[in-house]
Amino acid sequence: MRATIQALPELLINQIAAGEVVERPASALKELLENSLDAGATEIQIDLAEGGIKRIRVADNGSGIPDNEMQFAVQRHATSKIRDLDDLERVATLGFRGEALASLGAISRLTLTSRFSDGQTNAAHAHCLQVLGGEIATVQAAALARGTVIDAEDLFFNTPARRKFLKTPGTEFGHAEDAAVRIAIAFPQVAISLSHNGRRVWSYPTQAPADRVMAIMGDEFAGSSMAIDEQHTAFALHGFIALPRYSRAGRDQQFCFINGRFVRDKLLQHAIRQAYADVLHHGRQPAFALFLSINPELVDVNVHPAKAEVRFRDGRAVHQFVFHALNKALSASAVDVAAPTADPGRYVSAPPAALPQGTNWPRAVQTQIGAGEGAPAYRAQQHSRFYEVLREPAAPGDHNAAALPTASTSAAVAMSNDAGGVPPLGFALGQLHGIYVLAQNSQGLVLVDMHAAHERILYEQFKQANNANEVATQPLLTPIAFAIAPREREILEDNRLLLTGLGFDFADLSPNEIAIRAVPALMERREPHELLRELLDDLALHGGARAMEERRDEILSTMACHAAVRANRQLTLPEMNALLRQMEETERSGQCNHGRPTWFQFALSDLDKLFMRGR
Ligand code: ADP
Ligand code: MG
Repeated sequence: MRATIQALPELLINQIAAGEVVERPASALKELLENSLDAGATEIQIDLAEGGIKRIRVADNGSGIPDNEMQFAVQRHATSKIRDLDDLERVATLGFRGEALASLGAISRLTLTSRFSDGQTNAAHAHCLQVLGGEIATVQAAALARGTVIDAEDLFFNTPARRKFLKTPGTEFGHAEDAAVRIAIAFPQVAISLSHNGRRVWSYPTQAPADRVMAIMGDEFAGSSMAIDEQHTAFALHGFIALPRYSRAGRDQQFCFINGRFVRDKLLQHAIRQAYADVLHHGRQPAFALFLSINPELVDVNVHPAKAEVRFRDGRAVHQFVFHALNKALSASAVDVAAPTADPGRYVSAPPAALPQGTNWPRAVQTQIGAGEGAPAYRAQQHSRFYEVLREPAAPGDHNAAALPTASTSAAVAMSNDAGGVPPLGFALGQLHGIYVLAQNSQGLVLVDMHAAHERILYEQFKQANNANEVATQPLLTPIAFAIAPREREILEDNRLLLTGLGFDFADLSPNEIAIRAVPALMERREPHELLRELLDDLALHGGARAMEERRDEILSTMACHAAVRANRQLTLPEMNALLRQMEETERSGQCNHGRPTWFQFALSDLDKLFMRGR
């Protein structure tokens, strides 16, 4: 029998919504702490009882809530943080959905005490509001010096089914503490303390960002980590990452924040894992506290009720940026170069008002060199080993003006060999710390990020070979068995055509095992099962709903990244010159994938300025 359609009562709506926002004490605590931060608190005290199941109390010294707004605070979809869609698109507060207090009010005994002050107006006294079963009891006068105290007792007392899903108080406390630590590490300017069952667990005073990170991560991490401080026009990445020698069995010391918000973002995790891939023992976990600042308009935080996930407008650019920042730092550490010491005060946990526009000493001019129409099509068969690309001696005749396009932009670099026969990117002088290639051209100094440049070259070549159906496949002498989880199997089936098109060949052994019989020839130096696993990960990460070509490019990009020369590989001068010549021939070689430059031109006049010559 079918029941009639009826609107749900408000309490039930909120109880249902609470299932998304308030899953357990930890998620309730997270919401309350975010409210305190949004209110500009500089001091927060957390008191939990029985893992937060019995009680979660958060007291702050923030702006408070005006008494006439108190009742709206606990209403669903009532917020002081956004007004319209434009606000949503560049939201700079942690909260904005107006659901947390309404949800908490529906599943706990909630008491809100608050005294409004904004520096000018100061409420005569505080007000207190009680919510019982979603119903607001009257607002009463109360005593409180300043700020807000939120007290949520007996979580899920009226939703027994949900209460059953709670774990022991000890376990719930562990989760709640994690939530508090994530806030603490990202907001060092806020003094914060945590007590459980009346006992102080920890307390951090207002600290410098680096001090807070180290206080939370511990001395051992402090002694084996390095600062990350990377800027790009659209993003900035700051924080600390552990040297490979300090690795962990679990993911307990992995903190990733986007504009101050802790996220479990697969894309970021993937980029970080990939950066550590070559330097960390299999099965070990890196430790890091990384803070990504990004223009809020380039990231959508409204894709998850608890905002634990985000969506980037250009995920690949973010991935590349983070990967390269870490890869560079880890490579530098591997050759025992003192880690760059970034000013720890510089990293921000809140979205920057205006993002840095990059360095301007002396303004490095970067110009792009397009592809030559006559650039020889890449033949996979001739280059089955990636580094052979670099081994090709530069043929002098290859770089005449005809093979290179004319500059479309105000190029600072001549697009053809100059009178002295110097090609646009010049001739290599040497290698810097195994990361950069230095070259001299007619303008002055050219600095090339060799991994980034090579990655772009390979990516373009892979695409060309693929478009021309010139994919070479390398059969394995003995097929390699590959255990495949149901989820991976699904992804594999969805992309089977694509993968075979790229040179893979599989045979089914059983529902949960396949044999890899062939791999793309370009990738024959990689462990086949590792490569396949990474590609499947990538495909899972980026979702299968996209166009075939997009997925293909994704895979090719991952393959290019892995095949590109790693930092610390010593190149000979002919190899470096070959790389420069390849760059001149490659489409979009001025940028590694989306956006990051692969090389910079420093004109002699820039250098003169730097040394204050000729004044
Ligand atoms: P949201 O944070 O998404 O706006 P909430 O339900 O968490 O929704 O809070 C509702 C409103 O109550 C907030 O917009 C804010 O104005 C107010 N509020 C909640 N907690 C505090 C606090 N600790 N200090 C000051 N105002 C608060
Ligand atoms: Mg909130």
